[in-house]
Amino acid sequence: MGLLALGTALEWDEAKLKAQQVREWGIKQLLEIWNKAKYKERDALLWGDEVEYLVVTYSKDDPHVRLSLRQAEILEALADDSALAAKGGCVPDLQVLTDGKANEPLPVFHPEFGRFMLEATPGKPWGIGFKDLLDVEYNMRLRRVIAKDHMRADEWPITLTTFPRLGSPGEFTEPHYPVSGPRLRSQFVPDEIANPHIRFPTLAANIRSRRGRKVQVNVPVFRDEKTAWPWKDPTVNYDLHNWPEDDDVRNGAAPDNFIHMDAMAFGMGSCCLQITFQAKNITEGRQMYDQLSPLGPILLALTAATPVYKGFLADTDVRWNQISNAVDDRTAEEMGEKPLKNDRWRIPKSRYASNSTYISTDPRLRPEYMDPDLVIDEDIKAKLLEGGMDDRLATHFGHLFIRDPIVVFAEDLEELDLAKADHFENLQSTNWQHMRFKPPPPDNNIGWRVEFRSMEIQVTDFENAAFAVFLVLVTRAVLSFDLNFYIPIARVDDNMQTAHARDAVLDRRFYFRRNPFPQRVARSMTSGTNTPAVSRPPTPTGPVEDEYRLMTIDEIMNGTSSCRRRRRQRNGEAGAEAEAEDDDDDDFEGDYFPGLIPLVESYLDSMNVDVATRCELATYLDLIRKRASGELWTAAKWIREFVAQHPAYGHDSAVSEEITKDLIGAVVEIGQKECSAEGWKGLDVPGLDRMLGKFRARCRK
Ligand code: ADP
Ligand code: MG
Ligand code: MG
Ligand code: MG
Ligand code: MG
Ligand code: MG
Repeated sequence: MGLLALGTALEWDEAKLKAQQVREWGIKQLLEIWNKAKYKERDALLWGDEVEYLVVTYSKDDPHVRLSLRQAEILEALADDSALAAKGGCVPDLQVLTDGKANEPLPVFHPEFGRFMLEATPGKPWGIGFKDLLDVEYNMRLRRVIAKDHMRADEWPITLTTFPRLGSPGEFTEPHYPVSGPRLRSQFVPDEIANPHIRFPTLAANIRSRRGRKVQVNVPVFRDEKTAWPWKDPTVNYDLHNWPEDDDVRNGAAPDNFIHMDAMAFGMGSCCLQITFQAKNITEGRQMYDQLSPLGPILLALTAATPVYKGFLADTDVRWNQISNAVDDRTAEEMGEKPLKNDRWRIPKSRYASNSTYISTDPRLRPEYMDPDLVIDEDIKAKLLEGGMDDRLATHFGHLFIRDPIVVFAEDLEELDLAKADHFENLQSTNWQHMRFKPPPPDNNIGWRVEFRSMEIQVTDFENAAFAVFLVLVTRAVLSFDLNFYIPIARVDDNMQTAHARDAVLDRRFYFRRNPFPQRVARSMTSGTNTPAVSRPPTPTGPVEDEYRLMTIDEIMNGTSSCRRRRRQRNGEAGAEAEAEDDDDDDFEGDYFPGLIPLVESYLDSMNVDVATRCELATYLDLIRKRASGELWTAAKWIREFVAQHPAYGHDSAVSEEITKDLIGAVVEIGQKECSAEGWKGLDVPGLDRMLGKFRARCRK
């Protein structure tokens, strides 16, 4: 979560008065970085992943399952562990796990918003080599083993996006705290749910104060056979009178048929999988930012893992909008509910939302792709232009800087330090968009980076590694083939919403570019040449609407049916010729989408990867291919089915503690087995085969 400065955090009414100063100083710091790093060249193509965990308390003979709030103690143990630094002393299995890799830096653990969360990253970023792609999964398992080793016997790090009963009546944290603290003023969660570092409760409190009421996180409930309809969230208390904000529910904050939540923890308490790439220079970084942006909603739907909130099945499969709402600090004026009087703009999106800018210098970036509703701070933009930044990038930061800084430390306002990036980062790191463009920090040799932020965390490290590796390979294919995934930003926004639907991965269609190549390249792909020529197409003309269409995730990942048919023909597969004759829909010229997986395979073909590496990578691609085609279930589907088949489930949408305990127990066991020598073999978890397929028989490398 960015910087963790210490000091006096200002309450909102004071912080608000300092907002302009922070923005102006932030811009000065940004310009300093810009002028120092704009010509930075030849940085290595490094990348790194971030895995987030929930820490739960679970033991077979205890009927209760809870979130453990010992984040600080666990992090302290991890940081202090000299035995760990010596490698292998404290984790019995570590010698086996570090087999041959004893000199590599150990993973690093970080705090997160939830006091029940951990984040772990590799000890150093991964390099360009294919070998590193094969080390990711092992490294993720290593993180899980090390984390577990610094917990109590009944505590477990698990990679579920959300705790199914966060905010349910009764006790769901260990230790237990009563609700209605002064910071969150929540009906459902205590203030102690947040990391106690002053930054986090201040963030939550100031978002609430700025907004003028509590955040409102409403998720449609899944209507099952016996769900009362209309459904009223039975956990909402309409008779509380502790805080002025208790009026929110009396004023309509909790509509029928929605699970109602009212605090930042319901969003920022979710776990995700993020990948950061370093580009060779700023131009390449800007290209990566734009080209990966349309993939955000697609990968969100494909990694769907969030079907339960506050003890109820939801009618959505992913976490994104809940986080967006949980940190939405917009006032009634900014949301367009009241005429503008005190605020500067109406703002269409939360500060946590899909991206609103493209920033590349690519001539293929048409003005029509830009967001027609973009709000920018013209003064900030003018200062950036004056400082030498180009219009497109100045527009990007002029947009990010429409927001107020939420957490302001009095001590930081005494003197502007241009050798730091603290004021810039204050705004930058609280603009939670699905892509983040990360300028080089002023104090070291890191280059321009791009972060991909939409993916949901997966239950197993095998899956997490698969998605991380896939994204790295897509990025390489994009750069190597100069691919073009541009569609209008407004369509990316539409896709982000589409990705929320239950089973969107199979049932919904997403806007996607028909042809990612210059025509010449498309021809060489279909004629069997696996190495497309790299060349820019002529600047496109014609209506933008003709460049994209709605596609299923299966088409986007595995290719349109005509492309698949052509591939089969090329490979001389039986029946392919006859199929071709039947098909008069020859959409080659205008509607050629080969699929992201085949594109990655073409890239691998062009790289002459050795057979063993290729086999390992194929396992990852195969998992993703099958998730896209529906042959394998997403975690969201697996959890839904786990609940539906549970003997204690009343088909009324309610996910009881008994069901939650068994689900968490299964997830704990899956994680434990994954880190053991025998793997998942013999593990008896309902539905696991549908989620992991034949990969379940896979042995640990
Ligand atoms: P944040 O939380 O701000 O996104 P983190 O430091 O938690 O950032 O993690 C970012 C990821 O980027 C980590 O996996 C880290 O290994 C990786 N990383 C660090 N330095 C670089 C770099 N120069 N290029 C690419 N990735 C990097
Ligand atoms: Mg972070
Ligand atoms: Mg991080
Ligand atoms: Mg994080
Ligand atoms: Mg990150
Ligand atoms: Mg067609």
